[in-house]
Amino acid sequence: MGQPIPVSQIMHSGLLLQCSPETVISEAAARMAENSVSSILISQDNTVVGIWTERDALAINFADPDQFSQPVRSVMRSPVLSLPATMDTAQAAIRLKNQNQRHALVTDEDGQPVGIISRTDLALNQGLEPYLRLREVGAAIPHLPAVVPESLPLAQVADLMHRRGADAVVVNFGEDGFGIVTERDMVRFIARHTSNTRIGELASRPLVTAKEEDPLIHARDLLLDHRIRHLGVLDQTGAIIGLIGYNDMLSGAEQMYLDDLRQALEQRDKALARSSRTLQLAERVIESSFEGIMVTDKNARIEFVNPAFTHLTGYSPEEVIGRTPEVLSSGRHDSEFYTRLWQSLEHHGYWRGEIWNRRKTGELYLELLTITAITDDNDNATHYAGLFTDITQNRKNEEQIRQLAYYDALTGVPNRRLLEDRLDHAIRHAHRTKQLLAVMFMDLDKFKDVNDRLGHATGDELLVQFTARVRSCLREDDTLARLGGDEFIILLQEVKSPEAVLNVAERLVRASAPDYVINGHHLAVSTSIGISLYPGDGKTSEELLNGADIAMYQAKQSGRDGYQLFNPKAVDNPANRQRQ
Ligand code: GH3
Ligand code: MG
Repeated sequence: MGQPIPVSQIMHSGLLLQCSPETVISEAAARMAENSVSSILISQDNTVVGIWTERDALAINFADPDQFSQPVRSVMRSPVLSLPATMDTAQAAIRLKNQNQRHALVTDEDGQPVGIISRTDLALNQGLEPYLRLREVGAAIPHLPAVVPESLPLAQVADLMHRRGADAVVVNFGEDGFGIVTERDMVRFIARHTSNTRIGELASRPLVTAKEEDPLIHARDLLLDHRIRHLGVLDQTGAIIGLIGYNDMLSGAEQMYLDDLRQALEQRDKALARSSRTLQLAERVIESSFEGIMVTDKNARIEFVNPAFTHLTGYSPEEVIGRTPEVLSSGRHDSEFYTRLWQSLEHHGYWRGEIWNRRKTGELYLELLTITAITDDNDNATHYAGLFTDITQNRKNEEQIRQLAYYDALTGVPNRRLLEDRLDHAIRHAHRTKQLLAVMFMDLDKFKDVNDRLGHATGDELLVQFTARVRSCLREDDTLARLGGDEFIILLQEVKSPEAVLNVAERLVRASAPDYVINGHHLAVSTSIGISLYPGDGKTSEELLNGADIAMYQAKQSGRDGYQLFNPKAVDNPANRQRQ
């Protein structure tokens, strides 16, 4: 099916032949014959009250020529089928056929007549060429034609045509072949007002014919070329088996057209059912999704949110529809962050990343958000769809795992792994800046006794308190790490001189002096400290840790509760001070 064509494009819009109801039939017929049109409108007081057509002319008793002097109102058809000028021609064809009308008045939106349309006009303008090419003439002829001898009186022929509903008859001239008489000829006869006559005198000759196996388009072209409206149809033996006119072609085509339309409608219904099933499925997915879904228009006004959105943000659809996603803004990202987001959407139609937002309760949460631009056929964004999950907990878990991997569970200070990282880093830094770096190995004295006397839990608490005391002696940048048991390491960076290190050691020893108070128990626990210095005592973390360990051991050897600088040669180097 092609584009719909409105009736107004193909109707006869020039002179609309009109006469009053009192006009006599012969006068009305004369005007139709003169203008070669197949109908005349009957109007009174500027209103169309009826129509008289060639077909209607056959209803007149031709045997009584006085009939031709009757007013046209006695034979007109009323009321007149009228169709709006905007109606699609295909629909108009169906209306005419259903109401068994051959003409309709075309009216404008005010109901004023603006044209006349006939089934022939419609048949010629249905864009039926493909159909007419495929179909053979023989398949379109409705029934055997009336064939009348040329000697038959015209009145009898008119009566026959009227009774059979035929718009034409074949006139048999015997040896001289065939002619044809149509409704139009009858109207001419009425117009001439001549007395009853043999049909042969009225007939057009010869009868133009097509073969039954010709394609219909050939028949249509013959009609157009000869400016006639009927063809005789010959079978293979040359016998006349039918008459064919535009209407006959149209009626088959109409059926085909209706079938096509029905098929198209069925297909559309099926497609609709399919897409509505898909839609229902999509709706269910969206409704039950654990991911928050938000759809905005192109100006970022929220149009839709799903239940997960409400669950995650705390906002109901009513509270956010019509607003922008700014309602969720946490204030944690700068304007540059949002500029980059929009730039990505504009250039790639896509953005994915982590974004801190705020729930209705005010609580911050981290979401993993994917935004996709939804575009029209011209690639212009019409909507944006955002899908997000709350990854706050994931982030917390990650942090926890990181904490477990790099920090000591009891005291919260870095563990051996993180210490080694930091030490390597500190060595490189010290090397670059040509500065000293100190590694202090600390071990509590007689810690086992605490555990043995007061239990492991008290020992733990002592370790926690010890950690706090040590931290308070250090700068922010210094690292305190626990190796395990009662062993701790301190990294002192950007050390100015060995004396500065000794000062720190002194402070640490003093910090250990006051009793620890745990569960009402007063505990005196001192510390032994071994110190190695980069670069003098070692160039690698292993060498430095080893050196500090040895020095710590020396401090223990020297009576505990003191510190010792690493000195591989002289364990009792007098430079190494020993507190008593
Ligand atoms: P020294 O002066 O020679 O260091 O004697 P010490 O008793 O402190 O002996 P050492 O340092 O060799 O032993 C440390 C003890 O710390 C061994 C173990 O029972 C205890 N320990 C190790 N890890 C933990 C812990 O996580 N909690 C507690 N409460 N005790 C621990
Ligand atoms: Mg110990």
